[in-house]
Order: sequence, then C-alpha cells, then structure tokens
Amino acid sequence: MEGSGLEALHPGTLDCVHCGLCLSSCPTYRVTGRETSSPRGRVYLMRGVAEGEIPLSGTLADEAYLCLGCRACETACPSGVAFGSLLEQTRAAVDDAGLRRGWAKWIERLALRQVVPRQRVLHGLMGGLSLVQRLGLDRLLLPLLPRRLREMHGLLPRVPAAADRRRLPRVTPARGEKRGRVAFFEGCVMPEMFGAVNRATVELLASQGFEVVVPPDQGCCGALQAHGGELEFASELARANVVAFRQAGEIDAVILNSAGCGAAIRELDHWLGEEGALLAGQVRDVCEFLDQVGLRGTPRSLAKRVAYDDPCHLVHGQGVASAPRRLLEAIPELKLVAHDDPASCCGAAGIYNLTHPEMSAAVLASKLDALEAARPEIIATGNPGCLMQLEAGARGRGLDVRLAHPIELLAEALC
Ligand code: SF4
Ligand code: SF4
Repeated sequence: MEGSGLEALHPGTLDCVHCGLCLSSCPTYRVTGRETSSPRGRVYLMRGVAEGEIPLSGTLADEAYLCLGCRACETACPSGVAFGSLLEQTRAAVDDAGLRRGWAKWIERLALRQVVPRQRVLHGLMGGLSLVQRLGLDRLLLPLLPRRLREMHGLLPRVPAAADRRRLPRVTPARGEKRGRVAFFEGCVMPEMFGAVNRATVELLASQGFEVVVPPDQGCCGALQAHGGELEFASELARANVVAFRQAGEIDAVILNSAGCGAAIRELDHWLGEEGALLAGQVRDVCEFLDQVGLRGTPRSLAKRVAYDDPCHLVHGQGVASAPRRLLEAIPELKLVAHDDPASCCGAAGIYNLTHPEMSAAVLASKLDALEAARPEIIATGNPGCLMQLEAGARGRGLDVRLAHPIELLAEALC
C-alpha cells in the first residue's frame, strides 16, 4: 500500500460490495458498456491501486477523467460509497504522478487556474468575446479555426452585453415586512454569463422579505479545480470564501443558485475541516430555501409546458429534487411535464464538454432525446453549465425551446 498516493482512500473503497446497482445510472457505462467505465469498476481500480495490487497507471488515470463526476452512482448506491470524494482524491493522485498530459490537461489548467478564479481576467475575456460575437467576427473566423476550436465554438452561448454583466449591489433591502437576512454567493461564471439569473435571485429574495447582502471579497468556489484534482488550489479559493462570508455578520443562510458551487461549498468541512464547517452548514440552494420558508404573494400565471431537469450537483450532490418542482408548480397555468431521464447528467460536467467532447455529446444526445419527447416550451434547470450545455444541444437540434433557471420563472411570476 506504499507510494501510490491513494492509501488514504482505501477504507472508502471497502464500502463497495460489488452489487452493481449503480451501473444503470452511470452515463459512461451506459455509453461504453465497459466495467472499467462504471462506478463499480472504477472503485475496484482505486482499491487495487491503494492495495498495491495494480500500478497507478494510464488506465486509472483515463477512467478517473472519463468519469463525469456526476455522482448519480452515489444516489443509486445502497452501501453509501462516497464516490465523489474518492474521485477527487484519485484525480489528485493521478495529477501528482504526472499521468495526465495532453491538450485536455492544458485547457483545464489554463481555464481553471488562470481565467475562472480571476474575476478581472474572466470579465475582460467575456467583454472581448461579446465584442467579437456582436461584430460577427467569430462566424468569419470559424472556417479558419482547428476542428477542436470549431467544436468549442458550437458550445458557446451568446455572451450578454456589459450592462447585464455588472456586479450586484452589496445590500438589497427587504421589501414589505422583513422576514430575515441572507448572504448571496455570486459565483464566477454566473455574473458573466447569467447575470440576469443572479439579479432575478436577489430581486425574488428581496420581494419575499429578505435583505440580501453580497460580501465583496467572495470569489470562485473551487469546485471545478477540486473536480480536476487540484485540491490544494481549490482549498485556497475556499478559504478566501470562508473569510469573505464571515464578514457578512448575522445571516439566516448563504444562498446559491449554481448547483455545482452549492455542492462544493456544502462539503467545505471535508476539504478544510473545522475551518469550513460554519460556511458549509449555512449553504442553501435558493429553491430549497424558498421552498422551506414558503412563498409570499400570489404568482402571476405562466401558461407554458415546462420540463424541469435536475442538475447532478443539486439532486445527487445536495439531495434537492422536489423543492424546484414544488415552486414551479406554484405558478398558475404552468404545466410541469415529466421526462424520462431527469436525474442523469447532461454531459456538461464543468468543462468536461471541452476536454471529452465525444463522450459529452453522446451523454447529451440521450438527455435531449428524453427532453424532446416531452415537448416542453421551456427547459428549467439550476446550474450554469447545464443551462449552457442544454441550450447548445437544443440549438444544434433546431428545437424551439427556451432555457431558464427555475428562479427566473418564479421571479417573472412574483416580482
Ligand atoms: S460519477 Fe457519474 S460518470 Fe462517474 S462513475 Fe459515478 S455515475 Fe458514472
Ligand atoms: S451500488 Fe455501490 S456498492 Fe454496489 S457496486 Fe455500485 S458502488 Fe459498489
């Protein structure tokens, strides 16, 4: 058991009793049919390496990164295997051993270290991209780009104008009778690509009687970096948020509207121990919070067929499934249409759609088949990556459907 870097996760791998109940929920197993690309196969490999029976090699490295990290296997597992945590530790060991090379690693490093966590760099990049899109230069240059970049371009949504990418006010007062005070986590990608969702979230909370504070020193949550195996860098980002939210004073909760960030911050005690426990315990997804406190006021009607799709890191990472559906059902005339595959991954998985485009496309295709069959006019989901991936997929199929965060629909009905 010496030297692989996986020794610490060995006890966790023993939780797997090889029952196979997770197999049918695993998107990569569904696509490949390979045992090594299933949760059971991956845990078996991790355990073999931890016990020194199997060398830490390219096989485990490839499988660790082919995994979407969607955690559908955790929900399916009757034995409580903490797959997400095992995966993060495995990726960190693979990364430390230098087994991850090539352009996928390069993209991930560049995006997750140099762009995403640096607010000014990200803002400047998005500003440049917005200008290029508005001038139509991207379409002009597209035929000249290498195939990989052309594929990436297909995934890019339209970057909102600068006015829609402005930061939120530090304090938004409660409207009507005050019910409490909450802090809001803006995220890194959310203000740039989904500033309208952030504003709708704050407006809705204020209209429901909550004062909303936005701590100014908050930043990227570190989720994508941790999923990529960069646990130390992710912990640095997380520590900065612990300090930033401590300065918010007395609050009822820290509200998030991005499922991936919510799942990560909710588990800060795993990364940072006692230091992260307070913030971890304060986190609530916005739908979960509003469902708990109850909606105030009478929503206006919205006569649309809406398919709700569960973000993996909300349903599997945070156990929140019924709250968004209940809130949407509170909107008069809104018809919530069920589809066959709501809790499986859409293939976005952070920047997986850039690093593993073929598998991501296969996973997305099966999701879109299920959604298309339900004939929704609106697809609602609560995570920026899922919104972008499903929007690109729907656009690619020529579907006439709007993508929306559930909170946008609620804000339209209540604000
Ligand atoms: S996290 Fe998702 S892709 Fe990875 S093994 Fe589990 S179900 Fe499969
Ligand atoms: S469901 Fe859990 S215990 Fe069963 S094979 Fe999958 S990971 Fe192992």
